[in-house]
Amino acid sequence: MSVLDSFSLQGKVSVVTGANRGIGRALVTALAEAGSDVALLVRDPASADEAVAALEALGVRSAVVAADVTQLDQVERAVEEVVTALGRVDVLVNNAGACIHKPALEVTGEEWRQVMDVNVNGVWNCAQAFGRQMVAQNSGTIINIGSMSGNIVNRPQWQPAYNASKAAVHHLTRSLAAEWAPYGVRVNALAPGYIATDMTPVDDPAFQRYWIEDAPLRRFGLPEELGPSVVFLAAPASAFMTGEILVIDGGYSVF
Ligand code: NDP
Repeated sequence: MSVLDSFSLQGKVSVVTGANRGIGRALVTALAEAGSDVALLVRDPASADEAVAALEALGVRSAVVAADVTQLDQVERAVEEVVTALGRVDVLVNNAGACIHKPALEVTGEEWRQVMDVNVNGVWNCAQAFGRQMVAQNSGTIINIGSMSGNIVNRPQWQPAYNASKAAVHHLTRSLAAEWAPYGVRVNALAPGYIATDMTPVDDPAFQRYWIEDAPLRRFGLPEELGPSVVFLAAPASAFMTGEILVIDGGYSVF
């Protein structure tokens, strides 16, 4: 296999959660450009219309499955729907996530549980449900979208639940990687820094001093800049890599 062939996802089926906007939407495009059929797991199927049209234009098959990642029964139904529509599941990108900026003493119990529910329980539900399918077929790759916030504490905004949730995602990644390696299933995480999406107000002047000027590359990232790395983690190019957290943050966390 040539080097470039090892990045091909031709004939594979990928699932992306939170696929309708932001980072998830960009990862859908990247996986499809590498040749993969893609299932979009979203809360509102109508929100995926534009993405489906774009996938058709790229010449890959697609499916839209409705699920809230915090609801295990919905996620398990989504696995069945993806397998029925596209035949199998080779790649899962656990991308859906939520963040609340608030100092610890102001975070309500409801807010804490909301962030943990999407970021930790959601990743767990999808990893378990789709992982069961992968273990049974003796192959698969899972990419959890963690965050540099799982390694460092952001400033000036406080986001204690988010930081803790992403640290949990990173260690769950290592745990599942160890357990499922004998079944041919690799599990890695991608840990982005500040990326321009609805979640992250990168243009807010209040954050310029800390988010941008403190980063060695002195800029924020774009969702599409994460695409090549997700293709790498999904493809045979990373065949000897599992349980790893790949940080893509413009160098932010070196300081
Ligand atoms: P966005 O807020 O733009 O998108 C979040 C996505 O998650 C949406 O598609 C949303 O769906 C989906 N989602 C949220 N809750 C649920 C749920 N219960 N069930 C199903 N889907 C859900 O965020 P980003 O694109 O920025 O974030 C994507 C991932 O990247 C997250 O895990 C985030 O933590 C991580 N990340 C982001 C960084 C950044 O700077 N942007 C940095 C580091 C990590 P809907 O459209 O229905 O609301």
